[in-house]
Amino acid sequence: RWAETSAIRDWVPETLDGNRISLNVNVGLLMDLPHMHACGADGVGLYRTEVPFMVRKSFPGVAEQAELYRKAMDRSEGKPVVFRTLDVGGDKVLPYWSSIAEENPAMGWRAIRIGLDRPALLRQQLRALIRACAGRKLSVMFPMISETSEFIAARALLDRELEREKTIGGVLPKELKVGAMLEVPALIWQLPALCREVDFLSVGSNDLMQFVFATDRGNTRLARRYDALSPGVLRMMREIADATHQAGVDLSLCGDMAGHPLEAMALIGCGFKSLSMPAQQVVGAKKMVRSLDVDSVTHFVTSLLNKPDHSLRSDLEAYAKSSGV
Ligand code: PEP
Ligand code: MG
Repeated sequence: RWAETSAIRDWVPETLDGNRISLNVNVGLLMDLPHMHACGADGVGLYRTEVPFMVRKSFPGVAEQAELYRKAMDRSEGKPVVFRTLDVGGDKVLPYWSSIAEENPAMGWRAIRIGLDRPALLRQQLRALIRACAGRKLSVMFPMISETSEFIAARALLDRELEREKTIGGVLPKELKVGAMLEVPALIWQLPALCREVDFLSVGSNDLMQFVFATDRGNTRLARRYDALSPGVLRMMREIADATHQAGVDLSLCGDMAGHPLEAMALIGCGFKSLSMPAQQVVGAKKMVRSLDVDSVTHFVTSLLNKPDHSLRSDLEAYAKSSGV
C-alpha cells in the first residue's frame, strides 16, 4: 500500500478543469507525521491535541506542551499545521481528569465549554502553542463552538496570551490564523456574524452529523441508518460553502466524510476546496480529484439537492462511474 503511495506522492491534486484541491491529514501523535510526507499531503488540517493528553498520566505543563507542539512544527517541515485546542469530554476521556457523570456527554461539558470555564487550562495550551510557533505561522482552531460569542471569548484568551508573551519579550508567531470548528448545527445560522470574526472554518462532520441526525456517532446500531449523502446534508454543506465563500473565509472539512472518495466528490460539488483526512485516505482522494471536473460535479450535485430521497449514494455512484471518476 505504501509502495503505491510513494509512486503518487508527487501527484498534484488538481481537477481536470484546473482546480487545486487542498488535501491534508488528520493527526494525533508525532508518529503520524511521517505519513503526511509519505502521501504527499498539503499539510495537517487537524492536529487533535487531546490525543497526547490521553496517553499521559497527568496533565502536561506549558513547557512540556510547547516541546511537543514544536516537534510537530519541526516534523511538518514547513507544511501548515492546524492545531485544535483541547477537545476532551464526550467520547474523549482523560483518565486523570475526574469529571462528573453526565447523561449526554456528547452534548455535555466538553471541548471549548471546558476551555472557557477553566480558562487557566486553555491559556496554558495557547501559551505553549505561541511559544512553539515563535517566528513561524500559528494556526489554531477551537472545537465545539456553538455561538459566535464563544469564539470571541476564546480568541480574547489567545490575544491576552500574545500580549503577555510580548510583554515578557518572547518571540511571537510571524503569522496567525484563528478558526472555529463547525460541529454544532446552531452555528450555521450565525455564519454571517461568525465569518466576520474567524480566519477559517473547519467542518467537523463527525460531530455535526451526530447532532444533525440526532444519532450517537459511536452507536453501531445506528451507523447505517442515515446517509450523509442525502439532500438535506448536501444542501447544508452547500449553504456553508456559499456563506464562507461570500465572506472570504477559508473553509475545510476534517471529519470522516472527507476520507471517502464519493463523499469527498460530493463535498467538492457543494463548493469545498479543502479536505482533511487520515493519511491512508489521501491516495484515494488524489485519484478522485485528478479525474474530476468541478463544474460538472457542481451541476450534478445541484440537480440532486431537491430530491426527496433518503440517500443519493447510488446517483452519485452512477455519476462517478459514467464520468470516469
Ligand atoms: C469531527 O467531529 O468531525 C472531528 C473532526 O472531530 P473529532 O472526530 O475529533 O470529534
Ligand atoms: Mg468533533
